[in-house]
Amino acid sequence: MLGGGQLGRMLALAGLPLGIEFRFLDPSPEATAGTLAPLVVGDLGDVARIDELANGATVVTYEWEGVPANGARAAARHAPVRPDPRALDVAQDRLMEKETFQRLGIGVAPFVAVDERAELERAVDVVGLPAILKTRRGGYDGKGQHAINAAPDIDAAWDALGGVPLILEGRVPFARELSVLAVRGLDGDPYARETRCYPLVQNEHANGILRVSTAPAPGLTPELQADGVAIATRLLDELEYVGVLAIELFEHDGRLLANELAPRVHNSGHWTIEGAQTSQFENHLRAILGMPLGSTEARGYSAMVNCIGTMPDADAVRSVDGAFLHDYLKTPRAGRKLGHVTVVADTPDARDERLYALKAIVDSTR
Ligand code: AMP
Repeated sequence: MLGGGQLGRMLALAGLPLGIEFRFLDPSPEATAGTLAPLVVGDLGDVARIDELANGATVVTYEWEGVPANGARAAARHAPVRPDPRALDVAQDRLMEKETFQRLGIGVAPFVAVDERAELERAVDVVGLPAILKTRRGGYDGKGQHAINAAPDIDAAWDALGGVPLILEGRVPFARELSVLAVRGLDGDPYARETRCYPLVQNEHANGILRVSTAPAPGLTPELQADGVAIATRLLDELEYVGVLAIELFEHDGRLLANELAPRVHNSGHWTIEGAQTSQFENHLRAILGMPLGSTEARGYSAMVNCIGTMPDADAVRSVDGAFLHDYLKTPRAGRKLGHVTVVADTPDARDERLYALKAIVDSTR
């Protein structure tokens, strides 16, 4: 596996009981997946380290969309890389990503590429205000973004981000944020060829970082679920995808607009460990190894709260019925995802009650 962070760790935690053996490559000797399986320390684009990682592997996958595509392609000399690294090319460039959505008939916020200062005013005219200026590459969790609420903000936005390829997006006054997680198995496997989607999830962000996911999304209708499945299916087809794919969405005017895709297991799918018939982690492994996929149906009603910067009091969390604490064993740092808690319940009301109690515990330690 290219990358050995918490997603790699949770993939290993899902795969070890299935008898799957793992090896990880990560630039950090502290990478948290390294407590579970051998860790090769090196750059994710370092071909010698990638040879060491992938030699003898059955399959290579990745747990971070920032993996250099040339690194993923170097691994392909040893074993099939799934999902196909083409998904990395699209996910790593916000412009290519938006153009791909648009080409597939998937709704997006208005956007214009901006490379020069002189292009920015015209771009503002096209997408309108308020808008968000973003770096095309390298941005995540709200990094590499600058709001332009009114004309005087244009200079500050350029000063903050100018000099690299950018994209200006109109700010969507969305009703809420949702995500869809889909999984597709290996072509040729009659059991696994179909696409399976988890119920759409509602996501709340703060400072660009996911705080809470609620699953299934409150008020999820069959029509909205079908819209999400249709978006995911078009992307899976386009990318000839194998594995779990996540798409972040805005619900606006009763429609779904795609914001970005993640060609990997996703933070908004962590609830599936306790809250779905088969977790996103196990289903990703099943998919890339050509096994039959597991059911993506929810077991009751779930919510997930991220632990960011500090971990909550573990016993306080465990005192909440239906709560499950996951500690990624990472060194605390401001803004860093250190763990998460999932609550499950039999009814939406019971879930909301438990979520309320849990949020108070997690927030009290922030
Ligand atoms: P991103 O890095 O693109 O996922 O952006 C992080 C968060 O910023 C999103 O989850 C939204 O809350 C917000 N955001 C990003 N782009 C837009 C947009 N075009 N309109 C409204 N909100 C946005």
